[in-house]
Amino acid sequence: MRKKLLMGNWKMNKTNQEAKEFVEACGDIVKLAKEHNIDVGVAPTFLALCCAKKHAPEGLIISSQNVHHLTNGAYTGEVSTEMLQAINVNWAIIGHSERRTYNNETSEACNLKIKKLLSAKMVPLYCCGESLETYDKGETKAFVKDQIVKGFKDINKEDASKVVIAYEPIWSIGTGKNASKEIAEDICGYIRSIIKELYGEQVADQIRILYGGSVKPNNIKEYLSSPNIDGALVGGASLKIDSYKELLTNIL
Ligand code: PEP
Repeated sequence: MRKKLLMGNWKMNKTNQEAKEFVEACGDIVKLAKEHNIDVGVAPTFLALCCAKKHAPEGLIISSQNVHHLTNGAYTGEVSTEMLQAINVNWAIIGHSERRTYNNETSEACNLKIKKLLSAKMVPLYCCGESLETYDKGETKAFVKDQIVKGFKDINKEDASKVVIAYEPIWSIGTGKNASKEIAEDICGYIRSIIKELYGEQVADQIRILYGGSVKPNNIKEYLSSPNIDGALVGGASLKIDSYKELLTNIL
């Protein structure tokens, strides 16, 4: 039985003080999530990670939104897994569509980052998903398959099951135009079938696949009641504590 996961992606939002206030208000949320065997977490900016981690209740996952694939060196603006681990941050979102679009991040680059995270025993949350143009052309599956195959290149079976995948159609992120439950389930099921092709049934059964894209308290339940959707990656609706709490209570 795969453990459900609710992950908030804060993107470029929240000062240290705002992040501190939010995580300090998460005590009840974490308690409730634990009672129902659900993982909950948030991904602040690099700047707010240390502060969020310091003030978060035990059990609230604090994830980075990115990481570099090398340990140190002349890479201005970058942060390594070693730096994250030094503040006990053990998760990182990789390949979010905004990074693919604005920072030219490719699936090959994501693969290097995923491998670095796995070698550091950290958890990569690998995002995939197609543009509206690709969706309209009916090429979603081929596009997503390419992202998955490239992202998982040279990753062994044991490590593969530790990766969390998020399917996020770009046309549904921050637009309020969410993919239907049927589309989300179809593509998440398809991703699971690719993992099965690559690694076999056991890994396909274990790996967690999330849906992301305009998930709100009023629609989260329909996604999470689908057999191949194990949780949600949520942007906008994870920014306010009341809405974040409602996302959780609505899936209980
Ligand atoms: C995201 O940032 O990953 C996301 C899904 O955003 P939103 O929920 O705002 O669409």
